[in-house]
Amino acid sequence: MISRKKFIAGNWKMNKTSADGVALVRDIVTAVGKQSEVEVVVCPPFTALESAGHALEGSNVKLGAQNMHFEASGAFTGEISAPMLRAIFATHVILGHSERRTIFGETDELVNRKVLAALKNQLRPIFCVGETLAEREAGATLKVVQTQVERGLEGVNKDGAASVVVAYEPVWAIGTGKVATTEQAQEVHAFIRGLLTNLFTEPVAQKMRILYGGSMKPANAPELLAQKDIDGGLIGGASLEARSFVELVTAAAAVK
Ligand code: PEP
Repeated sequence: MISRKKFIAGNWKMNKTSADGVALVRDIVTAVGKQSEVEVVVCPPFTALESAGHALEGSNVKLGAQNMHFEASGAFTGEISAPMLRAIFATHVILGHSERRTIFGETDELVNRKVLAALKNQLRPIFCVGETLAEREAGATLKVVQTQVERGLEGVNKDGAASVVVAYEPVWAIGTGKVATTEQAQEVHAFIRGLLTNLFTEPVAQKMRILYGGSMKPANAPELLAQKDIDGGLIGGASLEARSFVELVTAAAAVK
């Protein structure tokens, strides 16, 4: 069986000034900046990206953005592009987060254009999918996730797929304190791995990381991270303090 390097990403959302972000990154770097067992990414808001990037220089912690536009430049007031992110040495970008989908109306088609633009610019997408509570209760979870995965990754080739990190985030578990059970999470992760196998072949799908996101905390992480197809976490609330974020990295490193 292929062993995939665990991956922990912090999604700060609309939190932290530039100065607050630098302080947080410094603490994270001090604690886990030299380890290489777990891939660690922080995703500050745009105004804190560049300063956070400087603060993590020389460490193994990587820089990700929370969104981007699919065009490289032009008349798109309020947007930023993949080349702009590359220019400040971002390596990852969260795309299709449920808050972007529900609050800002992002469709699978739009997310797909962003995924393709990120890959074209050598940015690794952290591509988010997940069902709402109503969809889960209607028994539609797998169908919803299948549509999001297939549409969101349309036109991605095998080489591109190897750079994609998928994040399964049940919408009802994000920021709510309600975490999916390990069985619920593992079921969907295994299903997603099957979809990736169909799309990109088994060897590629076996290499791709699939993260869980939704109220992951140091207390529930070890059990989730021990599941066969759960390769890490996309962390919201618990990424805003160095202590809890570092504990999550440590929990991921402890999984054998
Ligand atoms: C997220 O927003 O991606 C997330 C998982 O948030 P939280 O950890 O706060 O549920």
